[in-house]
Amino acid sequence: MAICGLMTLVLLIGAVGACAQGGSEDESKGGAGTVLITGANRGLGLEFSRQYAAAGWQVIGTARRPDAATDLKALGVRVVQLDVTNQESVDRLARDLGDRPIDLLINNAGIFPMAATLPEIDFDNITRTLAVNTIGPMRVTRALLPNLRRGEAKKIVNITSNLGSIADNTDGQFYGYRESKAALNMFTRSLAAELRGDGFTCIVMNPGWVQTDMGGPRAPLQAPESIAGIRGVIDRLTPADSGTFWTYEGKQMPW
Ligand code: NDP
Repeated sequence: MAICGLMTLVLLIGAVGACAQGGSEDESKGGAGTVLITGANRGLGLEFSRQYAAAGWQVIGTARRPDAATDLKALGVRVVQLDVTNQESVDRLARDLGDRPIDLLINNAGIFPMAATLPEIDFDNITRTLAVNTIGPMRVTRALLPNLRRGEAKKIVNITSNLGSIADNTDGQFYGYRESKAALNMFTRSLAAELRGDGFTCIVMNPGWVQTDMGGPRAPLQAPESIAGIRGVIDRLTPADSGTFWTYEGKQMPW
């Protein structure tokens, strides 16, 4: 009996120890869950994937051409095909995910047309930019809402730009891009209002001017710094922050 009692005590202590280990591991992961990142094969999306994977999150990274997404695949994350302008592709993604909960959706995929003056505007380009930057996040968010409802964190982060701020626009230029991000901002406010009371936090995030294919070599920021800042903000968000506009440095931006 005495040996039996001792063994029970040892087993109990072991179980408590295992629980304590599990708790501290979870804490070190900063509340890790499942994150889905669009446009994850390069630029900021790739850096998001790298950092979330390193922090212990389950990362689902989307790419238009998974076969060519060598850097993303090298991270060992799940890579899925997605063109945010194509409803069939979006529906396929939702079907593939099935009932899987998603804690955090990062609508990151985007394009940047060059048009500084009215005569430079190519309307097909502008239409395409709105399809990717504005309607794309709307399609993806709608399709994945059931998965997000099953997630614990219920966070939706739309990657915007300071160029999408109307209050900040004193210099003009960047036709098409500015409008696409301002409309994305408005979508995010509406989404925050619609999902208020359901535990969701929906925000827009300005990553700063970052060296990527889009940002170009003159950008002052490197992707690791921008994404580390954004992750810090996302981590601290609560539903009370829903419908707000942030910079990667953790400051709120004017609309
Ligand atoms: P990149 O050009 O480096 O990468 C863009 C990503 O979006 C690529 O993965 C690209 O895929 C993907 N993408 C483009 N079109 C589609 C589509 N139709 N469907 C799915 N994916 C698509 O840009 P960044 O990483 O610099 O930008 C990421 C986000 O950050 C964008 O929303 C951008 O507007 C925003 N941003 C960036 C800034 C910067 O300075 N870099 C500043 C402010 C905002 P593919 O490889 O197949 O083309």
